[in-house]
Amino acid sequence: MTINLLDQNRQAMEAFFAALGEKAFRASQVMKWIYHHGVDDFDAMSNLSKALRDRLKELAEIRLPEVAVDKPSRDGTRKWMLRLADGNSIEMVYIPETDRSTLCVSSQVGCALNCSFCSTARQGYNRNLTTAEIIGQVVLASRLIGLPQNKGERVISNVVLMGMGEPLLNFDAVVKAMELMQDDYAFGISKRRVTVSTAGVVPAIDQLRAAIDVSLAVSLHAPDDALRNELVPINTRFSVGETVNAAWDYARVTKRRVSIEYAMMRGINDQAWRADLLADVLPARGDWGWVHVNLIPLNPTPGSKWTASDPADEREFVRRLEARGIPTTVRDTRGREIDGACGQLAAAAAPRQRGDARGARADAPAHRRVRRRLAHARMIRQPECVARAQQEHRPPFQHHARALWPADHAHAAVEAGRLELVQPLLQVLHALPLSA
Ligand code: SF4
Repeated sequence: MTINLLDQNRQAMEAFFAALGEKAFRASQVMKWIYHHGVDDFDAMSNLSKALRDRLKELAEIRLPEVAVDKPSRDGTRKWMLRLADGNSIEMVYIPETDRSTLCVSSQVGCALNCSFCSTARQGYNRNLTTAEIIGQVVLASRLIGLPQNKGERVISNVVLMGMGEPLLNFDAVVKAMELMQDDYAFGISKRRVTVSTAGVVPAIDQLRAAIDVSLAVSLHAPDDALRNELVPINTRFSVGETVNAAWDYARVTKRRVSIEYAMMRGINDQAWRADLLADVLPARGDWGWVHVNLIPLNPTPGSKWTASDPADEREFVRRLEARGIPTTVRDTRGREIDGACGQLAAAAAPRQRGDARGARADAPAHRRVRRRLAHARMIRQPECVARAQQEHRPPFQHHARALWPADHAHAAVEAGRLELVQPLLQVLHALPLSA
């Protein structure tokens, strides 16, 4: 079996060449070919010996996702749907601006966290992406935008892990991919220009701080637990207080300002009193400018009951935060016409991308409801959710609920920061046949 060299950070690449009896500098030579010159044909790597090129052809490959759909927007934003080797699809979005160009990449196929306003959530969780599939998005976008023609000039200045999925539930692969984004032999993007966005997997925020130096964005969307429990269900496991504490700790230790993401939804979370409450919650941890609020006008998605805030309410929200000394910006809605704006990824995709019949059934309201309840129960330990699912739904679901019930174990794993132990549970749930 060949290995995909895009899965290797510099350290792993050096170990790979050492195992072939080669010097460590071969790793940087090959990385430069791949990432600086856009070459993935070993025969074209002219500073390697013929013997080494032949070994590489036997043992390794450089495999990128394939472009399935390329959607350019009038404002310069470009969204691609990418096909992975197993037939799954993901999306990435490129947003050029005058002073920077940002690539928004995905970290999972689908997402298990079930935020109520998010398109990705509606397709459920399928699997984690590999490092190669994450860094492969940056490689592919660079080439599509014109890296080879530009002779190594950087066409992507910022990368945000804000696409499909919760990056901190795919921790190891995401960290390795971010190491490559920052590595001078790969993309050499500055640390503060690589941003992880999380819905609030609190133990993993602490782990991230220890693992790599990057910027952090936290999707808060509500300053009170009652509302955030509904909008961002992981809040029933990690409260607003715990989430903001983790963000504050991240800023305190790294000295990097954290961005609080807040999607503005009309009549839901955009009231003036909630702006005041947010202004109470954030500075309570310190007032040295550790935090910045980024308001996101909600983007329309098919079938969503949420709508964007009235512009006057949005302005008042900004005014109240700024009056309390909290830097606040309103995000541009670029990419909206191609469903490439925030919260819209996968809006036009099938509910599940593997198994058509199963995907169609998964979209039925009863199935969707039970999947949500079970995912919810598993992630955040609510026995009553599983009990309700068992009472209301059919035998296969009762069986699955029982099979999945080691929610105590999931809870303990999350507590211990062993998120990789939770992933198999997610995979079991989402691999289940949905027939009655
Ligand atoms: S908003 Fe992010 S974390 Fe929440 S369901 Fe969507 S992709 Fe997952």
